[in-house]
Amino acid sequence: MTTSKPLSGCVAQYDPNALPVEAAQEIVRQWAMPREQEARVERVERVGLFDALDRVLADDVVSPIDVPAFDNSAMDGYAFAGAALASAPETLQLSVAGTALAGQPFAGEPNAGECVRIMTGALMPAGCDTVVPQELVTREADAVRFSRRAVNAGQNRRLSGEDLARGKPALRAGRIVRASDLGLLASLGIGEVAVRKRLVVAFFSTGDELRSVGETLAPGTLYDSNRYTLFAMLRRLGVDTFDLGIVRDDRASLEKALRQATEAADVVISSGGVSVGDADFTRELMSSLGDVAFWKIAMRPGRPLAFGRLWSGPRAGTGKPALFFGLPGNPVAVMATFYFIVREALLAMSGATPEAALRIGATCIERIRKRAGRTEFQRGIATRDAAGEWRVVTTGPQGSGVLSSMSEANCFIVLEHDRADIEAGEQVNIVPFNGLI
Ligand code: AMP
Ligand code: MG
Repeated sequence: MTTSKPLSGCVAQYDPNALPVEAAQEIVRQWAMPREQEARVERVERVGLFDALDRVLADDVVSPIDVPAFDNSAMDGYAFAGAALASAPETLQLSVAGTALAGQPFAGEPNAGECVRIMTGALMPAGCDTVVPQELVTREADAVRFSRRAVNAGQNRRLSGEDLARGKPALRAGRIVRASDLGLLASLGIGEVAVRKRLVVAFFSTGDELRSVGETLAPGTLYDSNRYTLFAMLRRLGVDTFDLGIVRDDRASLEKALRQATEAADVVISSGGVSVGDADFTRELMSSLGDVAFWKIAMRPGRPLAFGRLWSGPRAGTGKPALFFGLPGNPVAVMATFYFIVREALLAMSGATPEAALRIGATCIERIRKRAGRTEFQRGIATRDAAGEWRVVTTGPQGSGVLSSMSEANCFIVLEHDRADIEAGEQVNIVPFNGLI
């Protein structure tokens, strides 16, 4: 997890008071490396299939068998040798020599002029390569009649290995295991896979004004919501979480929390206390604990952000390192910076092959005020119109403290750096919340 290049060098070419989102993402990407230098036993564990959901595959999974393992019927119908179609008159008549059921193959080989009654999934009888669906035939006592145009030679048969071929990678290392993958692994007879150990992420909130759920609110205080949002977003990413609670705005408390977090976790995330007005002890402390830069990112919400590396030892560069994200305090800014700055780093460090969040074009049906020179992530409600096109409106007031805007929205409206005001009817890009995790 170490890089020789100091963080300050990475930002040198940008205005630190208006770091473009893409530049911040790129710097974070360079610093967020999977833990390849650790011994394999440190970063890999084997788990049974039911525990593999949402985990990151540590190795390619090579198929030990062909799936399907044998040629079989894709339909309920009648199996026969397709070559008969070429020389057939307008209507074929075949006598039924027997039956093939799933799990109960037909033992013999039909002769010319014969077919086998077959059900979906049953082994194709010897000499047969074609299935005519039952609804296209006329059945008579022990024979069937059908038009030669009802089927082409080779149709309605699933070939052995057509889903997955033996010896070929069925799933790649870095894949986050989904529902279909669990089924796929089971179809290969694999009951256990090697997955990456979960990344450990410590998080806490800072602020003397914060109270925990269950406490009473005195004037000027408010409930800490960021820890809950962070907890939820982290859980959705499949990392292990370590909650350090609320940390008071004083040097000793912050230092204690940061050291404890760095000791215990791969990544430390805090919220609050990183804007310009905040006590200088934060910066001072960060520089004694590691290499941390305070950025003003050209994004809204989420302008102030601290990023870098902390060390658990007495001095920077000693003890155990952890990547650090000091997110802004405002609740919506926490979510936006998490999704657009932090998320990819956590995936990369987890060993996952990062996939970009899904971006879709939509027609914006209201005017949005926007200043060029920063990327805005507004909260939107996207729907599809009668013609199937996506259209989007904002949720209304876009203050970075309005958390209800996130609950109401189903997408971020991404207004890119160089764009100015958006007129009703213009195209914008949206990132659906469902595509984020
Ligand atoms: P800060 O970045 O610490 O100046 O905080 C910016 C704003 O976000 C202030 O209005 C804080 O009260 C609010 N805030 C900070 N942390 C939290 C939190 N954990 N939960 C809810 N609001 C917070
Ligand atoms: Mg604060």
